[in-house]
Order: sequence, then C-alpha cells, then structure tokens
Amino acid sequence: MVGFGPSHGVLDSLREVDSIDDSPLDSDILSEFERLSQRISELARLAHQKLGQHSIDHPDLSQPAITPVPEQNVQPETEHLTRHIQMLEAVIESSSDGILVLDEKSRPVLHNQCFLDVWGIFGNSLINGDECWMGTLATSLLEEDDQFIQRMSLLLDSPESEIKERLRFTDGRLFEFISQPLRVAGKVMGRTLSFRDVTEQQRARELVEYQATYDALTDLPNRRLLLDRLNQMLARCRRHDRIGALLFLDLDNFKTINDTLGHPVGDALLRKVAGRLNFCLRSEDTAARLGGDEFVLLLAESAGSYQDISEQTETVAKKVLDTLSEPYQIQGHRLYSTPSIGVALFPVADESADDVLMHADSAMYRAKSEGRNTIRFFLPSMQQESEQQLQIQGDLRRALERDELDVYWQPQLDGAGNTIGAEALLRWRHPTRGVVMPAEFIRVAEEMGIISSLGDMVLREACALLRKLGDEVPEAGPIYLSVNVSPQQFHQADFAEHVTALLEETGANPSRLTLELTENMLVSSLDNVMAKMIELKRLGVRFSIDDFGTGYSSLAYLKRLPLDEIKIDHSFVCDLLKDPDTVSIVEAIITMASKLGLSVVAEGVETRKEFLFLKRKGCMFFQGHLFSKAMSEADLWEFLAMESIQVSAENGLQSAFDGF
Ligand SMILES: [Mg+2]
Repeated sequence: MVGFGPSHGVLDSLREVDSIDDSPLDSDILSEFERLSQRISELARLAHQKLGQHSIDHPDLSQPAITPVPEQNVQPETEHLTRHIQMLEAVIESSSDGILVLDEKSRPVLHNQCFLDVWGIFGNSLINGDECWMGTLATSLLEEDDQFIQRMSLLLDSPESEIKERLRFTDGRLFEFISQPLRVAGKVMGRTLSFRDVTEQQRARELVEYQATYDALTDLPNRRLLLDRLNQMLARCRRHDRIGALLFLDLDNFKTINDTLGHPVGDALLRKVAGRLNFCLRSEDTAARLGGDEFVLLLAESAGSYQDISEQTETVAKKVLDTLSEPYQIQGHRLYSTPSIGVALFPVADESADDVLMHADSAMYRAKSEGRNTIRFFLPSMQQESEQQLQIQGDLRRALERDELDVYWQPQLDGAGNTIGAEALLRWRHPTRGVVMPAEFIRVAEEMGIISSLGDMVLREACALLRKLGDEVPEAGPIYLSVNVSPQQFHQADFAEHVTALLEETGANPSRLTLELTENMLVSSLDNVMAKMIELKRLGVRFSIDDFGTGYSSLAYLKRLPLDEIKIDHSFVCDLLKDPDTVSIVEAIITMASKLGLSVVAEGVETRKEFLFLKRKGCMFFQGHLFSKAMSEADLWEFLAMESIQVSAENGLQSAFDGF
C-alpha cells in the first residue's frame, strides 16, 4: 500500500534523491514518477478547474493559471488521473526500499509498505499527523536512538541539509539511510527519507574480512592479524619505551593424537586449547593460531625493566603451561597434551615482527629439545642453534644416502655381571664431526618425518642379530635385544603386521625381542596401543616402558597393558645419591614393578655406588657406562664371548659384584 496521495513536488524530489551516489531509489521508479508527475499535474489542474477545489495534497500544486475546460472532457480525465495514481502507487510499492516523504512541516505525506515493515508499523497510527513519530520509532528500535533523534532534529530544522548514514537496529538489522530536501521548482517543499536493508551485504563483507584475518577452526586471529597487531605493538613499544612479549607454543604430542584418533579429535583438541588460551589472557592480549598445532600469545606491552617484564611473562607462561597440561575429555578419550613454550621479549634492537616471531620459535625449539612441556626464553645464541638445526637436517639427509648411520649395542647385565641382553642405539658417523649421538639428531629426524624409517632399519638389524645369536651362540644363554620404537613408528597402522613380517623374514625368536615404548605414546590412545601390543604379544614379543617416570606416569596403564619391563630413567639414577626424594621414587618404582611382576632395568648406571645402591633396593638389571658403552656388533660378539666376571674385572668391577 502507499499512504497519502503523491504530489508532483514529491516526484521531483524523488528524482533528485536519485542523483545522490548509491541512492536506494530505483531509476526506473523515478522515471516513471517523472512521467506520471507531469500527467498528474495536468489532471490535477483539470480537476481543480472543474471542481473548484485544491489538489489532493498540497495547495501549492493548484497555483497554475486556469484555462476553461469543456465539461465533457473532465470525467474521462478524472478517470485517467485515478488510474495514474494507482499506477504510481504500484511503482512506489514495488521498491524494495522503505520510502517516506515529508512535507515542509515534516509531516509524513507519502510512504510505501516497505517503510512500514522496516519500522514495524501497523496501519498509519504513527504516520498520521504525529510529529513525534520518528522519535517514538527510534527509541524502541534503534541501537543509538538518542544520536539518531538528535541528528533528525537538526536535519528537520535545516531544510537544505542532506544525510547518508547507517542505522543499526536493536534486532541486528542494518539499514542505509538517505535523506534529502524535496524541491519543487527549485523551492524546498519537504524531505525524502529512504531506508535500504544492507544487513546481508554487511554480513557478507564482515564474513570475508573475518575469514581473511581469523582461523576458521578456532576463531583465533590468524598469522596475518597477529603480524598486524605485532607490528603495531612494536611501534608503540619503540615510541613509548615499553616492552612486549610473544609466546610461541607448540603442542608436544599433537601429531600422535591426530594420527591415532583422527582429525575430528585433533580438531576438537585444538579448539579446546584455543579456549584455554583465551581463558589465560587479559582482554588486551592476543591469542593466535599460526596453523597446525602452533599457537602464539602476544602479551600487551608494559613499562618496566626487562627483568620485571621477563618475570611477569614467565608467570603468564607457567599459567598457560599448567592450564594446557590439564587432561582433555574429547569424544570419550581422556587426552594429555602439554605445550613447549618459547618466549621472546621485544624490542631488543631493530627487529621486525617476523624476527620476533622467529626468536620465539627458536626458543620454543629449545624448550622441545630440553624435554618438552617447558618454557624457554630466547637468547641470541639460539639463533645460531636454529641455523645449526637446518644444517643437521641437510647433513642427515646426506647421511641416509651415504649410509652413515650405524646400529650400536649397549649391554644389559644382571646383578651378578652376566650379560642378559643389549639395547640397540643409533650412532652417526659424521664425516667431519666424528660420532654424533642420537640426542642431537633424533628430534630432527622426527621433524623430518624419517624417524620411522630409521626405526625400521634398527628393528631389521635387531631381528637379524637375534637370529644369529640363536644360531651361533646358543650356549650364551638367553640374550634379549631391545629396540626403541618412536611414537610415529608405533602409530603406523601396519606396525604390528610389519614387525610380524620382519620376525618371519629373519627367523628371529620373537620372545627375545623387547620393544621399548615411552609413556607419552600410551596416553593418546590406550585402546589402540593395547590392540597392537596384544597382537605382537601373541607371538611372544616383549614390551618395556622406557624412561619410566619422566612422562605421564598414570599407573592405570601399567595394569592394563601386557608389559614385561620398566626402565628407570638415567636422570633418576644420576640423582640417586644426591637427592632423598629421588631415592623414594626409585624405591617406589622397584616395589611397584615387583608387585606387578615386571622386570626393572636401571639405565645410565655410571658408578659402582649407584649400582650397589640399586641392587640393594631390588633392581634386577643394569645398563650404563659402568659396564660398557654402546659398541658395534663385532665388539658385542667379543663382549658376549667373555665370562661376565672377566668383564667385571677388566673394568675394575670385581668388587662391585662381590658379595651379591
Ligand atoms: Mg631406550
């Protein structure tokens, strides 16, 4: 419906509104208005002459000179007028914009249904003669109603003024509002108001902007937005002599969780991590996701010394570490996912945002290499280490091509000095650096994704050696060979089948093969781990928990898994004689293993005192430099050929075994 009758002045004004850029009024409607305007004006004059009355809306419209009109012409012209008014109504009604026209006293004189819909008006209650109609509407519907009412008041007091702005409704709708003076023959006769719904358009724009700057999975800012904020913060820090902090986080076992439990669980974990990060931060800080399991926290700059800011940042980092280390419940799984955190304070010199990010990344790698689940601050020396890491990667690739990696064997002995087995350990014959130990390259191999093939090589050699031990020295007694299995290797879908095939292929005795797993690889998917272990256990393969006590020592898995052995980590052995708490821990491990019927092997035994102490506490087997370093296969054969007591004597260990 269209309210009130249109005057040709109204039509002129509508045409003028169209001249504004992006006017919401349709040009077709305006041209139709113009055509009809002229026609209606003519007809209005005719009607006036005939009826001696003013035109429908405005007395000014009836001013033209009167020319006598024959009475027989008036009736058809009146019908014509009516039809054209109806057409005009239809044209206005067809507009998808809300249209309202006011007269020179700001009284509504013309509107369409869309206008009523926009403002939720039923009937003409607010239009008819109510001068406060706009204030009443705005108060109930607009978010910034006071400002709008003020602006409208100024607008209506200034007939020549124009306005174009956006109105946000309390229900979330957004309208483009345009108002212009209504001119008739150059004279302002009122005002037009139009309202175009741009809610969807705005939402689409906001979505595009959001997607460009936010991570879709976690709703955290992405790298682009992070770098933008970091750049701004760097500038503020330099201008106001302040210090900011950036924390680079990487989840320690995310890949294992993702690979074993699937991406939906991995994604759910990332979302939960994002939620916990936001919980740890203040509103002025930023938590961002760079991709994968890498997150960044940008802590707002503050005044103070580097020492002060460093301490404050460490407090936040510890809070984050503790919060993220709490278990996660996801789709029926209880998961643990600790972070390694690298911290960079800035500005230190003239570093860029990318430099700050790289520094924190280097510190994070240091945290990873120093046992994970920890915090490290960036030091300039780490830059050099990062470059060295890249160097090691290149060297390691070449090492594989040149077959520079060897499997060495470190004997394991019982309390009487008898060799009962050996653990396979990798050694890298570096062309310029000499022998490189696994601690320097295993993590690099993991990052390069080649750890599984290295593990496979070791496993194959162990099986081959087991077969030879069975064939050639049956009199040597049972010798067990232990092989470290990396999480990546173990979580491969066909790991159990692969080991089975290797055992068959080599003819090795499965019951002499011990696979060493770490605690951390058990927590991500105990059921999955157990299924593989049971499959191999049926063949007789033994299982050991390596580095026991350094990971997630949930005792529940000890009871459920088909384990044979626990290895006490060398860090406990090293502290045995210095720290009473360590003694308690080691005693507890030995007692628990004994109750569960598991063997205990102490790693890293280097002194006679350590050996004696452990033996007295009930430890059954020992491994470490006190007895022998890791050796080549040829040396192992010689070692096995010697009487255990002779080995002890040669190493000055006679007394170590005496009396036990
Ligand atoms: Mg081991």
